[in-house]
Amino acid sequence: MKDTTRITADIIEAALKIGFSACGVTDTRPFDREAPYVIDWLQHGYNGTMSYMERNLDVRLAPSLLAENAQSAIVVLLNYKPLRTIPAGRPQVAKYAYGTDYHFVVKEMLRRLLKHIQTEIIPCSGTAFVDSAPVLEKALAVRAGLGWIGKNSLLINRKYGSMTFIGTLFVDIPLQYNTQIEPDLCGNCNRCIEACPTKAIVSPHILDASRCVSYLNKTHKGEIPDTLKPFIGNRLWGCDSCIDSCPYNSKTPTHNMSELMPKNEIFTLDLGNISKRQLKKLIMRLPDNNQSGTGS
Ligand code: SF4
Ligand code: SF4
Repeated sequence: MKDTTRITADIIEAALKIGFSACGVTDTRPFDREAPYVIDWLQHGYNGTMSYMERNLDVRLAPSLLAENAQSAIVVLLNYKPLRTIPAGRPQVAKYAYGTDYHFVVKEMLRRLLKHIQTEIIPCSGTAFVDSAPVLEKALAVRAGLGWIGKNSLLINRKYGSMTFIGTLFVDIPLQYNTQIEPDLCGNCNRCIEACPTKAIVSPHILDASRCVSYLNKTHKGEIPDTLKPFIGNRLWGCDSCIDSCPYNSKTPTHNMSELMPKNEIFTLDLGNISKRQLKKLIMRLPDNNQSGTGS
């Protein structure tokens, strides 16, 4: 029988072999320290029309309630930094949306990881989440030792910066939990705050999502306020301004995963004349064979 240290090391090794860029493991204790900040953020209305964020707050703040018997959280990052980007003068789509919908790609990889754990490492039950349930994924990633939360509220990993997708696999077995929390390395830098077109980063680490372009041009229900419209510029889907300005993203490696390679249309379509509906369909399109494949 393997001990938890060995089991944990084997799981992390398997996650990296499947193609994840980084993997860390943490427990599912409640987010007591983070809870007041989350509640305060909601009370300010910084979630805009995303009322779902107010629901299931107890679950959001206590990950063990999310999946039955969840004892451990295996947190993974997947680098999505693309090799080439849409030229600056053209209508912009955020880089995270260039390839196949990440929810699908990361979830499929997590399913493969769970299957590998069950058949090759240790019998267990698990549930995978990718930005699709009330999970404080960034807080879990910090706890798992995968980075710190930057002033723009994104997770920053030393090796991969903030261009990563986060996925979580909750399992019903005890593992060895990370004890090395990354320090906040933002220091005196304020580049993301200065680069934000709508001043959505109201103070370090506090993002007013209701002003964030990434929310306004994809998630917001209703008319975009006239006061903010002029600042959206040529951003059609999402916004990369705070990401592009971050020094921790300048020297990070690009990904080489086939699933995340840009859809041809991202570079060839006349994005300026595409309807919102067509754009959404393009961004959220499933791969042709309805299967996400192999990690690199
Ligand atoms: S995504 Fe754009 S609008 Fe939102 S905080 Fe970053 S720079 Fe500001
Ligand atoms: S731009 Fe500077 S302040 Fe903002 S997240 Fe990056 S390092 Fe931190």
